[in-house]
Amino acid sequence: MKMSETRELQNRRAKARLTSATPAIFPMPVLIHALNRRWTPPMPRLAVDGYWRAHAIRADRLARALAARSKAPAGWIWRVGPEPGLPATFRDPPAPYREPQFSRGPGTCCVCGQPVYRFGWHRDLWDAGPNRRASWHTACVVAWRLWNAPSDHDRMLRRLQSRRCAQSGGRLWKTAEIDHRVPLFQVWSERRDTAWPALLDYWGLPNLQVINRDAHAAKCAEEARYRGRSRKAMVDAIATAG
Ligand SMILES: [Zn+2]
Repeated sequence: MKMSETRELQNRRAKARLTSATPAIFPMPVLIHALNRRWTPPMPRLAVDGYWRAHAIRADRLARALAARSKAPAGWIWRVGPEPGLPATFRDPPAPYREPQFSRGPGTCCVCGQPVYRFGWHRDLWDAGPNRRASWHTACVVAWRLWNAPSDHDRMLRRLQSRRCAQSGGRLWKTAEIDHRVPLFQVWSERRDTAWPALLDYWGLPNLQVINRDAHAAKCAEEARYRGRSRKAMVDAIATAG
C-alpha cells in the first residue's frame, strides 16, 4: 500500500472516531482545523491540542488576556528561588497561581488563574462548570512553552517579521537568533514592580524578536557593558553612602 493510501485509510478511521467522540457543542475552529490536518486527530482532546499548537500567537495573547482577568493575588510579589512553585530564575515567567499559597485549586489554570472547562477550553460552552481534574488551559500550555522556549517557535517568528532582521531590517540569515527586546535581566533589575500580568508581556510576543547573529552579538555586548555600568554605579553609590 502506498503512503497516501495508508494515510487516507488511517484518516478515515480517525475521522470516524473523532466524529463519534465529539460532543454536539464543540469549538468550530478546532473541528475545522482538525479535519484539515494531514493526519486527522482521532480524539477531540487531541484536536484541541493540535489547534493551539498551530496557533501559538493566539494562545500567547489569550493566556495574557485571561491572566488580566485574574490580576495578581493580593500580597503577591515576583520572587525567584528554590521554593516550590517559584520560578528558579528571573528567566522563567512569573506565575503567581503556581505558588501553593496563591493557587486557586483544582479546576483553575495555574498559569492564568481562570477556570478550566471541558477539553481544557477557556469558556464553558457546555454549561458544565469547571473540570476539576484540570489545572491548565490547553492554550496556556502552549503559551507557557512559547514563553519558556521561544526558539522552538523560530519559524513562526521569522514569518511574522517577513524574514527581516528586527534590528537591521536586512534579510534574516539561517543562523538568526531569538532575542528579548527588553532583556530579561533588565526586567528583573529595573522593571520588577510592573504589575502582573503586564509583566508577562516581556515573555510574550510583544518582547520577542528574531535578529541576525551579528546584530545579536552587538546587542549582547551592549547589554553586558550596560550591566557593568549599573553594577559600577551601585558600587559607587554604596561607597559614597558608606
Ligand atoms: Zn490559563
